[in-house]
Amino acid sequence: MSDPQYTELLGLTIQQLTEIAEGLGQPGYRVRQLLDGLYRQRWLGLEQFTMLPLAFRQSLRESGYAVGLPTIEKKFVSTDGTIRYLLAFADGQSVETVWMPDGDGGEAGDGSEDGDAELREQALSHQHSALSKGKPVPGSIGKGPSVSRIASGQTRFRELETRNLKLETLPQNAGSPSFRPQRATICVSSQVGCAVECAFCMTALLGLKRNLSAGEIVGQILAVLNDQQVEMQRDRVNLVFMGQGEPFLNYDNFMQAVRLLVEAVGIPESRMTVSTSGIVPRIADFGAEPVRPKLAVSLNAPNEALRTEIMPITKKWTIEKLMAALREFPLRNRERLTFEYVLLGGVNDGVQHAREMVDLIRGLRAKVNLIALNSGPEIPFSTPSDERVLAFQNVLTRAGISAFVRRPRGRDIYAACGQLKHTTELVQVKP
Ligand code: SAH
Ligand code: SF4
Repeated sequence: MSDPQYTELLGLTIQQLTEIAEGLGQPGYRVRQLLDGLYRQRWLGLEQFTMLPLAFRQSLRESGYAVGLPTIEKKFVSTDGTIRYLLAFADGQSVETVWMPDGDGGEAGDGSEDGDAELREQALSHQHSALSKGKPVPGSIGKGPSVSRIASGQTRFRELETRNLKLETLPQNAGSPSFRPQRATICVSSQVGCAVECAFCMTALLGLKRNLSAGEIVGQILAVLNDQQVEMQRDRVNLVFMGQGEPFLNYDNFMQAVRLLVEAVGIPESRMTVSTSGIVPRIADFGAEPVRPKLAVSLNAPNEALRTEIMPITKKWTIEKLMAALREFPLRNRERLTFEYVLLGGVNDGVQHAREMVDLIRGLRAKVNLIALNSGPEIPFSTPSDERVLAFQNVLTRAGISAFVRRPRGRDIYAACGQLKHTTELVQVKP
């Protein structure tokens, strides 16, 4: 991908694909066949599109169009099952994409099916330690029995149009006792590196290399789905746009990717969450989108002075402006905003900070995800003790605010939040 010689079909809008097919004298249904091969079959080259006439494939090639996915350059496997992929594009740039086989346990509580599970969990939370929440579910998508693909493009298109599970499209082993569809979460990057200089984040140390195209954003997901042999009819996949980069500083490509993921891959928007460091003008744009993921905001500090210290972007978009934009944000039925709060030992993790948080977000339909710092080289902060994390959570919970402690994923392979920095000095698994 990103080879200037070619235009990748992946990532083009359905309208653009239609114009290309029409321009080459093809009937309308060719677009559906193209979409099927690109997004459902996840094919890697034009030669695999055997349902298309050879002449059409040739004319696509001659007109400079290509099909391809990012390549898996490296793969790191954590003891908790999390996998960090280093995915490379044709221009040599690469990003990280993280596969969490049993979900990330954090992006829920807002009316989605995940949310229901989280609310049930919350009801039981008096009996459980908050730090033990989100226990791994036995089994995982990638470990399931492999399932043969459905050969007919037509059959797949009926699914695309209806998005309903049809009996004849179920994998053959769906009824067997060993068949256990599971849910996984993919953490997706939106840029190579990041321009926002958060003091606690390893991605910030990379600086911004470039934006990802819509095709490269979707391509990460398809490459991981292929590697994990995910069947969209059988398995449940959630997406969090929380990898490298600030999605709202690559807004148009990010939104184009979202639309393709919903319309062509078939992942419902309710299973997607995007996190922003607070690019205020884009929050209003995002609220006006007819199709959009849920919104998470990395707040990380309850007042202007402290937030400016750890997130200098606050100088540009103040907490006041940020909160004003969030108060205006049109939440859907049963939807909640998520505030993310990275706890830095002795910096923003005191009970007085928690009380300030309560005052700041009071009245908003929101929940808070608390993340104890994932440490890394060159990060000048420490991870707070469990006691401090729980004390912080207690203040919020007592004030009637849902607060969850996010279980770190893949810390041992630098795959956890804020650790994505192309770190390679770890045990490496061949792709
Ligand atoms: N750029 C976006 C999305 C990617 S960062 C954003 O900042 O929201 C995803 C989450 O990781 C953010 O909530 C961020 O605050 C958190 N994070 C960054 N560095 C971290 C670290 N070292 N430990 C724990 N969480 C971190
Ligand atoms: Fe960028 Fe998000 Fe890291 Fe801040 S926390 S530097 S916005 S990736």
